[in-house]
Amino acid sequence: MTPTSPPIHEGGCVCGAVRYRVQGKPALTVVCHCTFCRRRLASAFAMVAFFPHEAVEFVQGEVATHEHISDASGRWLRMNFCSRCGTTLGHSAEFRPGVRAVAVGTLDEQDWFTVDRHVWAQSKLPWVQIPEGVPTFQQAYLAP
Ligand SMILES: [Zn+2]
Ligand SMILES: [Zn+2]
Repeated sequence: MTPTSPPIHEGGCVCGAVRYRVQGKPALTVVCHCTFCRRRLASAFAMVAFFPHEAVEFVQGEVATHEHISDASGRWLRMNFCSRCGTTLGHSAEFRPGVRAVAVGTLDEQDWFTVDRHVWAQSKLPWVQIPEGVPTFQQAYLAP
């Protein structure tokens, strides 16, 4: 019997130029209601899945990176985009070494995990309702 390898899931950008693969389940999934994430994803909140760095592989296309330095902490956040269509694919952050955040909306299938926690609830939009029983933090939750 061969050992079962972790499942592979794929994702990519809107134009199809960039494709990536993730291996296994996310280490952590977060919905972030902070204003920064809302702006960078042009959305009402961000849904992010964190994977170990080595579990994410870009297999096709050219990925552009924008490095944002936080006003508050002075630490970097590197946001990844398709260099052709601009779709945000994810990011890595100085304060989370060893993990890569995948923008959940770019996965081909998004129903194989659930939300572990909501963060920055203090700035969420009033019409967004967080389901009962999901751990919720008023600000950041930085532990892995
Ligand atoms: Zn693209
Ligand atoms: Zn955020």
